[in-house]
Amino acid sequence: MPEQTETESRKLLRRLRDTMAEEAAGQERLDKITHLIADSMGTEVCSVYLFRDEETLELCATEGLNPQAVHETRMRLGEGLVGRVARTGKIINSADAPKEKGFRYMPETGEEIYSSFLGIPVQRLGEKLGVLVVQSKEARLFSSDEVYALEVVAMVLAEMTELGVFVGEGAALKARHQQAVMFRGTTGQEGAAQGHVWLHEPRVVITNPVAEDPEKELTRLREAVDDLRVRVDEMLAGAPSGDKEQMEVLEAYRMFANSKGWLRRMEEDIGRGLSAEAAVEKEQSTARARMAVISDPYLRGRLHDLDDLSNRLLRILTGQGAQTGAEMPPDPILIARNIGPAELLDYGRSLKGIVLEEGSVGSHAAIVARALAIPLVIHAERITTEALNGDHIMVDGDQGVVHLRPDETVVAAFRDKIAMQAKAQERYASIRDKPATTLCGKTISLQMNAGLMADLPSLDGSGAEGVGLFRTELQFLVRNQMPRRSELAALYSRVLEAANGKRVVFRTLDIGSDKVLPYMKPNDEPNPALGWRAIRVGLDKPGVLRMQLQALLRAANGRPLSVMFPFVAQYEEFTAARAEMDKALARERILGHAIPEHIEVGAMLETPSLAFAPDKFFEMVDFLSIGGNDLKQFFFAADRENERVRRRYDSLNVSFLTFLEQIVARCAASNTALSFCGEDAGRPVEAACLAAIGMPTLSMRPASIGPVKSVLRRVNLDALRGVIHDARDRGDMSVRGAVMEHLRNGG
Ligand code: PEP
Ligand code: MG
Repeated sequence: MPEQTETESRKLLRRLRDTMAEEAAGQERLDKITHLIADSMGTEVCSVYLFRDEETLELCATEGLNPQAVHETRMRLGEGLVGRVARTGKIINSADAPKEKGFRYMPETGEEIYSSFLGIPVQRLGEKLGVLVVQSKEARLFSSDEVYALEVVAMVLAEMTELGVFVGEGAALKARHQQAVMFRGTTGQEGAAQGHVWLHEPRVVITNPVAEDPEKELTRLREAVDDLRVRVDEMLAGAPSGDKEQMEVLEAYRMFANSKGWLRRMEEDIGRGLSAEAAVEKEQSTARARMAVISDPYLRGRLHDLDDLSNRLLRILTGQGAQTGAEMPPDPILIARNIGPAELLDYGRSLKGIVLEEGSVGSHAAIVARALAIPLVIHAERITTEALNGDHIMVDGDQGVVHLRPDETVVAAFRDKIAMQAKAQERYASIRDKPATTLCGKTISLQMNAGLMADLPSLDGSGAEGVGLFRTELQFLVRNQMPRRSELAALYSRVLEAANGKRVVFRTLDIGSDKVLPYMKPNDEPNPALGWRAIRVGLDKPGVLRMQLQALLRAANGRPLSVMFPFVAQYEEFTAARAEMDKALARERILGHAIPEHIEVGAMLETPSLAFAPDKFFEMVDFLSIGGNDLKQFFFAADRENERVRRRYDSLNVSFLTFLEQIVARCAASNTALSFCGEDAGRPVEAACLAAIGMPTLSMRPASIGPVKSVLRRVNLDALRGVIHDARDRGDMSVRGAVMEHLRNGG
């Protein structure tokens, strides 16, 4: 056996490249490759196994094993030594393969006569594609140089598999990026959409993994790294110094960009025959493999940074990435690892759907997606690796499922679902201008939640009577600096104009907890949802609250104005906030500005404590709005953003409904206007129950108004209340079962 040196591996790569340059169909290419590897490495056998589907490997080409076994021999992930390499992503190098744990005898291949086994995973950036194996009769371990040479070949094979080089006549396997894949994530925003993939950061395609001239590649790499260092320094210089987290990430970037070890490893790979971009990607693959097994969040974060940095370097080297010249496909569905709210707003309503690998239900991106009513699925792991620009994709926001390159049966089922939704929309449109009057003659006021100027057209389209909750924090979240009073006043004024006389309830800034402003010093709090947030910030640092109240008064410019304070936990917080409004009014009067002809000041009831506030609170407050999302999380002590617990307690839980009923009773006793504006208001069954226990007003996403109204117009609230009370008397945990049955039987 020839000694594999660096030159040997380069020679092997050169032969590989020449083979790839020849005109050949997929299978023929693979056959040639296995032949030349066995020849170069001096082994009797070289075989390539590729994934047929997620769980099955197939022998796709071999030199040395029985040719009849090609496309016949299959194994499941984890089965035999080959399956073990595929499952673990780890190399197996053995002088006595039959003695290895998990060895499986495959008579059709005649492999029992081979003692030595070297199996290398074929993977690209942690994505498993197959296994490359060499075997020989002589019982020996393969040297580290040999292992390295084969690793490099495996990487080149991975690139080729990705590029679909092996697809074609005679090849049984579809290219990786032509197969249908389904992703199971989490619902961020309901709704169904189909369209074409638009990658927020497009995937870099490497077409030249093997290079002719290492000197040239070294120069390219060094120039690109220099360029990268300059860019990182520029980013650091331009970063807002208050943002600790961003500074930390950039410092980590700088450290990696200047790391001698990182550069040296890539230079060594080039010395062994790889192109500059293939060397960068090899390092990136190593980092990703490490990332997969490390659980420490800090270390994972740093490896993530290294991964990002490698992406940047690849973009510099290949000139790909800015999507310059690339046209957004029709019906674009945005795919990203994560995205900030401002970037998402830049895309605006041109997007039909959004799929993220990370994100959380309460993230800013999710808030914006919800405000734009764009179906959103989060936690769709690995989708940025699988999807290519232009791929056909279907997003099922209701189930949190994404179908990439779906096959015909899925497409047909999905189209039916969309058609059904369209039919339902038609039905809702027909009752748009009718009131939500129930069979027992009670009329519920349906309002919409909003947060962007872009939401306002929905006011007419949805049939909402007004805006029951205008979340003002979005305007603060999507900027890089604190908005000025005049900007806010102009915006609020446009909102009032667009509402055309309908009531708009502006909620003052609700920041803290999950909503952290990019330009405010972040507070490290052990429990941010229970921490310094919303009105607590407003009262402790009243500058912003005052500015916002003035902006609202100026925007109203004499018109009626409704304002509410979020997260009020006790009477005194409300009186203090109300006093700020009175001061603002007095100031405006002195300045000679118009004062609203009618002003209402309310509070959000989001903590159980406020339900037990003294009577004078209920008498003083002009109206109350129940923030069911927060109220429920505090009632059950179950974090609304924690996937493990957030669905654990039913909103139709009898104890919770009883609590809400008590709030209704207190408001009725003091004649205080009451509404409910959490997400549950937009769910038809929940909405019907809320109405049944006496909630007079419900505020929800515009798209929910139709479905909720349609149900309300078909129920008798007195009967439904009876069902709820019977369930309580029986001691049921939730009224859902009984209510669903009642509604199924005609309400
Ligand atoms: C709520 O808590 O129910 C609410 C409407 O406010 P947000 O979702 O913005 O916290
Ligand atoms: Mg809230």
